[in-house]
Amino acid sequence: MADATTCYLSLGSNLGDRAANLADALRRLRNHPQLQILNVSSVYQTAPVGPQDQPDFYNIVAQVEANCTVKELLEIAQQVEQEMGRVREEHWGPRNIDIDILLYGTETIDTPELQVPHPQMMQRQFVLVPLAEIAPDLILPNGQTAADAALPDDPTIQCLDIQLW
Ligand code: AMP
Repeated sequence: MADATTCYLSLGSNLGDRAANLADALRRLRNHPQLQILNVSSVYQTAPVGPQDQPDFYNIVAQVEANCTVKELLEIAQQVEQEMGRVREEHWGPRNIDIDILLYGTETIDTPELQVPHPQMMQRQFVLVPLAEIAPDLILPNGQTAADAALPDDPTIQCLDIQLW
């Protein structure tokens, strides 16, 4: 078994009961024997990327200790998406659950199926703001801390008062 690695996952939902979907995904991840959830951000309501004629997303970032390889982590995340009957009609379109691997320790992976650090994470405030909430001193791929990269006053992001777990 690989040594435990601290990872960051981004979870999003904009179909159905968005908070319940995030809580369900967290519960499934937590129940996985190779994962331990160390911390979860607040829930943020964020404007959709891509087509605007879809509901806002609810987004969170989770800090996870993984006793598995990054490939296995992707399989676990995709299994949770499948178990939840992931619904998504179009690229960038609405989906009931989306789980992305942001960081897997300090490793860099660049294969057709998996790129880590997540290539878009530095452009996404709906990732950076919740990440900075739970790991402000984390050094990001560009050398900045999460706190320095996040723009918490971004008008497209709103922190909600929802207790998920
Ligand atoms: P999405 O539409 O965002 O759910 O993208 C799903 C696809 O992105 C999957 O088939 C993955 O193989 C691929 N992918 C590449 N890098 C990552 C990553 N860091 N986290 C999650 N999925 C990834």
